[in-house]
Amino acid sequence: MAGMRPTGGLHLGHLLGVLTQFANYCDTADAFFEIADLHAYTTEFHDPAKIRDARNEMVAVWLAAGVDPQKATIYLQSAVPEISELHVILSMITPISWLERVPTYKGQIEALGQEIATYGFLGYPLLQLCDVAIVRGEFVPVGRDQAAHLEFGREVVRRFNHLYGDGEQILIEPQPTYSDFPEVPGTDGRKMSKSYGNAILIEDDEETTTKKVRSMVTDPQKIRRGDPGRPEVCPLFYLWRFVNPLRLEAVAEGCRSGALGCVQDKTDFAEQLNAYLRPVRERYRAFRDDPAEVERIIEDGTARVRDVASKMLAQVKHAMRLT
Ligand code: SF4
Repeated sequence: MAGMRPTGGLHLGHLLGVLTQFANYCDTADAFFEIADLHAYTTEFHDPAKIRDARNEMVAVWLAAGVDPQKATIYLQSAVPEISELHVILSMITPISWLERVPTYKGQIEALGQEIATYGFLGYPLLQLCDVAIVRGEFVPVGRDQAAHLEFGREVVRRFNHLYGDGEQILIEPQPTYSDFPEVPGTDGRKMSKSYGNAILIEDDEETTTKKVRSMVTDPQKIRRGDPGRPEVCPLFYLWRFVNPLRLEAVAEGCRSGALGCVQDKTDFAEQLNAYLRPVRERYRAFRDDPAEVERIIEDGTARVRDVASKMLAQVKHAMRLT
């Protein structure tokens, strides 16, 4: 089970990292992919239209990246009320101190300000657990920065089973599958992120992509063609390995010897990158321009999840003598 917040602007970094893995899971697991729109409200609550618009766009990118809705279940978090009900139920046995000590809580408030310090934001990791528990998720691909969330969730599961399980494991302790997603650099060399304004977006056209590639930072010591460069410190060189690994050696050699200049390399790379993204962008536009089909896929998946979720919730309520 994995989820993603619909906050807009999926980019090359998403495609090379998490979405490639989503596509692989379609063939190797019984995969559930959640549009985490309630989670999006923790930071974007002032802009509901943005979340609404981003949701179909995000699914269009998933589908374009190879996520197969016949094999995986794509669903909308807010349309599965069982998740929210489980959240309320589990909040009764979750000590506040457990939530407060999740490292991202204080870190994010420091980074984003007191405005996001809501009740829902504090409970974010608990809602994440409910996302996973309601579909009996066994494995959750997480980046290492999210490991504490999952560990917190496992503690809550153990507490629940201890209190109400009567020797049975009613809730499953989800296991992390650590994914060393490649950290894809943006045009300024920092991690690619829409909020840094350094991202090459899936929705960009080829001209915009070429302009962005031309503006990329490279080895600062290589000023003009003829200067020997250091590919190992160049963000553009790092991206070559994904876009056309067969060219890596020749680019490195040309850069080091000075025979290849950054202007030429950027021109070559922009061409290759556009060719690499072209089929994904074509599929993305086809799905974006067919919102009825995207809605149908989400509705289908949501109905399938509700079937699983209602059984899980009934078990939880029965164990707690609520029914
Ligand atoms: S020649 Fe290419 S690899 Fe070398 S610094 Fe310039 S852009 Fe980077």
